[in-house]
Amino acid sequence: MERLQNRLNDLTEAGLYRRLRTMESASAPRVQVDGRTLVMCAANNYLGLADDDRIRTAAIAAVVRYGTGASGSRLITGTTELHLHLEAALATLKQAEAALVFNTGYMANLAALSSLVGAGDTIFSDELNHASIIDGCRQSKAAVVVYRHNDMDDLCQKLKDSPNSGQRLIVTDGVFSMDGDLANLPAIVDLAEAYDAWVMVDDAHATGVFGEHGAGTADYFGLPPSRVHIQVGTLSKAIAAEGGFIAGSSVLVDYLRNCARPFIFSTALSPPVIGAALCALDIIKEGRAERDRLHKLSHRLRSGLLDAGFVVVAGEAPIIPIILGDPERTLQYSRHLEDHGVFATAIRPPTVPPGTSRIRLTLMATHSDEDIEHILTACTKAGRELGVIS
Ligand code: PMP
Repeated sequence: MERLQNRLNDLTEAGLYRRLRTMESASAPRVQVDGRTLVMCAANNYLGLADDDRIRTAAIAAVVRYGTGASGSRLITGTTELHLHLEAALATLKQAEAALVFNTGYMANLAALSSLVGAGDTIFSDELNHASIIDGCRQSKAAVVVYRHNDMDDLCQKLKDSPNSGQRLIVTDGVFSMDGDLANLPAIVDLAEAYDAWVMVDDAHATGVFGEHGAGTADYFGLPPSRVHIQVGTLSKAIAAEGGFIAGSSVLVDYLRNCARPFIFSTALSPPVIGAALCALDIIKEGRAERDRLHKLSHRLRSGLLDAGFVVVAGEAPIIPIILGDPERTLQYSRHLEDHGVFATAIRPPTVPPGTSRIRLTLMATHSDEDIEHILTACTKAGRELGVIS
């Protein structure tokens, strides 16, 4: 234990120690944290549905009908009609033949990568892909080739240089979780077709947020599902519940149902979670106005920060990172933000590369215009106090 304590001490010294914060209210534009009311700017509750009464009611109805726990894995006793309805609704959203629900988005990525490719195959993975993709690559036993972030020339060169045997799979976040930029999916799909590779996109942050139908990056770029073979998503962000999913062809989903260990060997998600997700999908179908509002607010915040002199990663997502570099300074900045009434977390290595610690601001469609002005004022005040901006 002394050895572990020493490592924890090292983390603290490097500004990389992590502690839990306790939320004392639902995820909403205003939250109670440690006795203070703050403007929430750190949740992935993009459409504000985690605090929606229609979804609460649906979750309660599912508990009343099916109970609190699924009591078994999906292939034993854990599949209710709700699970099947949810999978049908997800397939419809993604315009795919079928979909399969997993217990988390993390497990969906592990499931896809560990069961669809293996020894003799090659995965091409963007250097800024989410940790669950990295872990899935490690589990797969395939060769892993990491290409420079969103760099299509580098990806093309690496595809050219790879052996012409085994299955190739290109995997990318749709919206990069810590940067908020979008993958160049049209170019990835073209390269995949030229080099006979599968395309897997993790739309954890794009589902419900991007595209004409809120279906994610393929929808946003007008790419048909036949060109994006494996579409991963989570139910835990815009969908305001918990769980993950994979949408694709019927054969893909049938294979995963039979061979993906994270699907087979874990108890199914509980009925209230599934009931909540189903209700959220219904709302998202009609959610054009909320998506438009979310993008308008994101644009306002991003341009306000740029005008104030901050270094902000270019992008369109409701994820707006202010890069500060040093972890300790980033922590200090988040404390100052809290003192000015805004809750935004410091994101540090290993979540982001060393030297790129940042404050990750995230928005919800339910933030008011005044909330955005409040966030801008708080960021500017904290920025001046710490000499981040002049
Ligand atoms: N992929 C990405 C890009 C994510 O940001 C996350 C969550 N942070 C996940 C997958 C994992 O999803 P979940 O939280 O549902 O496990």
